[in-house]
Amino acid sequence: MPDELIERLRRFHDDAFPRYRAQFRTLVDEGQRPTTLFIGCSDSRLVPYLLTGTGPGDLFLVRNVGAFVPPYDGSAGYHGTAAAIEFAMLSLQVQRIVVCGHSHCGGIRALYGETPAAARNLAAWLELGREAVLPVAEPGPEVLRRTEQRAVVLQLERLMDYPMVRERVEAHTLSLHGWHYVIEDGEVHVFDVQHGQFVPASRSEHAGTGPYAMGDTATGLDPSGVPAW
Ligand SMILES: [Zn+2]
Repeated sequence: MPDELIERLRRFHDDAFPRYRAQFRTLVDEGQRPTTLFIGCSDSRLVPYLLTGTGPGDLFLVRNVGAFVPPYDGSAGYHGTAAAIEFAMLSLQVQRIVVCGHSHCGGIRALYGETPAAARNLAAWLELGREAVLPVAEPGPEVLRRTEQRAVVLQLERLMDYPMVRERVEAHTLSLHGWHYVIEDGEVHVFDVQHGQFVPASRSEHAGTGPYAMGDTATGLDPSGVPAW
């Protein structure tokens, strides 16, 4: 059986890389200066570069099951996502943090069912979305959609527990964006905190700058920030 992956690697080096050579040279010489930390679900159907029209050097990307944000206090043990948030804030000084969930999310669906006994780490990780779960026995598509969106807002709230995030949000040098990507429509719905709902990007006036839009006078997250719908 031919090794398809090695073929792809060679094709990248020979065919695609030459088009990017100068850009990568600059990014190496001058270092990366991404303006956005993108926290997205690991789902293979969510392709951040496609969604945002970005390329090399643009996004500092961290992905995990559910697009969850672990607690800042480290109580849950090792967390690559927490480390990435700290690095993005303290070293890269990003100006935006996007939390991007999506439709048909297996991580969110798993909150309504059982995880395999051997998946100890996964079971613990999913608890970071537990608060978003709605009190129904059998979740239909609409409940799952709402849960996916509630989970995004929950992660934005948890981001605010990171002191370096809160300080910069309150200083209006950082904005938080909650996104829910509907795979089958190819459209992101952005969280509009003023109205407590997600709005399709085609009808939204902004990219979902949450309660902390640049110039916004809001200084703290509404404790009831998780939409109740
Ligand atoms: Zn997912």
